Amino acid sequence: MALIVQKFGGSSVADRDRIFNVANIVKKTHDAGNDVVVVVSAQGDTTDDLIAKAAEITKNPSHREMDMLLASGEEISIALLAMALTEIGVQATSLTGWQAGFRTDRTYSSARITRLDTERIESELNRNRVVVVAGFQGLNRLDDITTLGRGGSDTSAVAIAAALRAERCQIFTDVEGVYTADPRKVPGARKLAEITFDEMLELASLGAQVLNNRSVELAKKYGVELEVISSLNPVPGTIVKEKTKEMEGMLIKGVAKDTNVAVISILEVPDEPGMAFKVFGLLAQKHINVDIILQSTGRGNNKDLTFTVPLEDADKAVEILKEYQSRFGGDEITVNKDVAKVSIVGAGMQSHSGVASTMFEALSEKNINIKMISTSEIKISVIIDRDNADRAVSAIHDAFIH
Ligand code: ASP
Ligand code: MG
Repeated sequence: MALIVQKFGGSSVADRDRIFNVANIVKKTHDAGNDVVVVVSAQGDTTDDLIAKAAEITKNPSHREMDMLLASGEEISIALLAMALTEIGVQATSLTGWQAGFRTDRTYSSARITRLDTERIESELNRNRVVVVAGFQGLNRLDDITTLGRGGSDTSAVAIAAALRAERCQIFTDVEGVYTADPRKVPGARKLAEITFDEMLELASLGAQVLNNRSVELAKKYGVELEVISSLNPVPGTIVKEKTKEMEGMLIKGVAKDTNVAVISILEVPDEPGMAFKVFGLLAQKHINVDIILQSTGRGNNKDLTFTVPLEDADKAVEILKEYQSRFGGDEITVNKDVAKVSIVGAGMQSHSGVASTMFEALSEKNINIKMISTSEIKISVIIDRDNADRAVSAIHDAFIH
């Protein structure tokens, strides 16, 4: 008898029919002789609706009260799913995050799990009951309710799978798995059979919103294999694991677009030691994340510094740089918000040459200008005009994936 963790996202439990659909999937797994722990998110857009409700009351809700409010969404789901399971003859117990033993640090609205006491879950399993746990929530040392950040139910599921050494951790969603590109935009996008944790992390941070980033980090840390599958269509999904079989011709696993980016340039900065430190030290101090950095070679006694920041931080970054400009000098500070980052990800590029040039050729054929380039072991990113982003993704995707 194996222990299986099954997580269902908001769209999978959106209404009565979807809840019974989930109950039937769980029943099947349980009837096959497995112990099952189910983790659920809030129904449909409930979390967004709750956020909107708070906004009707105040512009500045306390984080503590926000967590109190948002946690209620998952509590509705667990109770309804437990009732549905009972209705179809499966004994089930719903547990809130804290009943299930989730303890977290104090950071309301993006708390980290510090401990998971599994006694209650285990005692319910020992009574042959299916346990339905509210994702996304825990309790801090003040015994206040905390939430784990948007999409945090994935992390709850992985944490349970790790703590109970589950045989499998299945993440059910409304897509059939992880794709090589957004299938709604790129018709040739293919579903991947397997992807590594590292590739998944890169894709997740690049805006492929299948799995929450932290959940993948946690899965990697504890070696929990994840299976991303559809709750609506019973076909094989995508396995996320440490190492995958190198598929013939599969040099890259995905192309992703990120429009949450802006480019800032500081022109004519003195070409002398310590300049990069002065500029980026300042931004780090102000908690602004800098991603791609480009420094021109010196002309005369000056050089240009160009870098990207998250779009929502762009104005703040420029303001700070102008305020402290006397520290590093330089001339004009410009910002370009009409850009996008397009990236390819694949562990295969470590052992193959020519991956970058294939990407650049695809862009060149479409006459798309590259503003910045950055590479890591398993990723190549370019910054281009935002208007070209979708065309770029398609062209690059077609160049690699046939
Ligand atoms: N309900 C929460 C959210 O929408 C958590 C989750 O769905 O995982 O972000
Ligand atoms: Mg949700």
